[in-house]
Amino acid sequence: MKTTITVIKADIGSIGGHTRPSEELLNSVKKYVSDAKTAGLIIDSYVGYAGDDIHIVTTHTKGVNNAEIHKLAWDAFSKSVAVAKEQGLYGAGQDLLVDAFSGNVRGMGPGVAEMEFDERPNEAFAVFAADKTEPGAFNYPLFTMFCDIKSNTGLLINPSLARGVVFTIMDVMKNRVVELETWNQMPEIAAILMYPGRYVVESVKTKDGEPIVSATTDRLHNIKGTYVGKDDPAMVIRLQKTFPATEEVCYAFKDAHFVAGDTRGSHHMTLMPVRINTTATSYFCNPLVSALLFSSHNGKLTGPIDGFEGSNWDLVRQKAAEKSEGMRAQGFVHPATLIPEELEYNQGYQEIMGRIEKLFRQR
Ligand code: 13P
Ligand code: MG
Ligand code: MG
Repeated sequence: MKTTITVIKADIGSIGGHTRPSEELLNSVKKYVSDAKTAGLIIDSYVGYAGDDIHIVTTHTKGVNNAEIHKLAWDAFSKSVAVAKEQGLYGAGQDLLVDAFSGNVRGMGPGVAEMEFDERPNEAFAVFAADKTEPGAFNYPLFTMFCDIKSNTGLLINPSLARGVVFTIMDVMKNRVVELETWNQMPEIAAILMYPGRYVVESVKTKDGEPIVSATTDRLHNIKGTYVGKDDPAMVIRLQKTFPATEEVCYAFKDAHFVAGDTRGSHHMTLMPVRINTTATSYFCNPLVSALLFSSHNGKLTGPIDGFEGSNWDLVRQKAAEKSEGMRAQGFVHPATLIPEELEYNQGYQEIMGRIEKLFRQR
């Protein structure tokens, strides 16, 4: 049986700032999704949040880019905005960029990660949902998972992974993609992943074309003209057998690496692995990522359980907080802040620089 996993996510409002959605807002989204299940459109679903972003995970048999499935998510989000407005939530409808649905949610604001495959008898997959960061935040852990033998012995031991994988990577600035494969194009892969603000992993497949990873880069693809690199990302990763093990995939987040995002989408702090359904921290909006682990059989989901629970992850959280604090100690001075073109809200900065421009005199 061919199963499709579709994850569609959006920020449609949150309590007291960019924190987390209200229970009423979540319940509204859940109701539209469960009605679709009752109507037989989808097999199963899960609705949760990472900071102020709500993710809808569905399983179905309609393939990727299906208009009915995308409309379901669009309706669940757009109709729930009324609840966000009624409660005066902050950023009500923030990620819904158009007024009406037109066949496919890509380019309309919400992020989409989806893949269709022949379901294995014991299909296992993870959904990573992040907040206060950008899609390129997943570049580093994806490199660790698929390219770094020192971190992932599975790349030696597992015959499929040892043969290598194919990355599809997007150039955010020029709206184009390139396919690069391990192991013969390692310098190319390393060089391109070096700048996550510009180059972003969109998907990873086996050399036989089996999907392993799909990430939410579609908004970047479709909204041209302005810099839209800052879109809180999510990704789906299939686990076990010919794919990386659950522990190899989650372990790739162990370094709490520095990413762009946090307060006003304009700083660098670490990507902190957190529990499922965590509120964005008021500690300068330290970027966060949660790991939802599912089993699927005939599209029926069991889970999620939490990929980032336990003492080891508490230590990583501690490390993330300490590294972030190290960066915050230098306040507004780059690289604590982003370069001007990547500041999410840069009008104030531009105004000041405009005044300075008039004061310059030639040497
Ligand atoms: P979000 O992108 O998560 O809505 O956060 C925006 C922001 O400016 C936080 O300071
Ligand atoms: Mg928000
Ligand atoms: Mg967000």
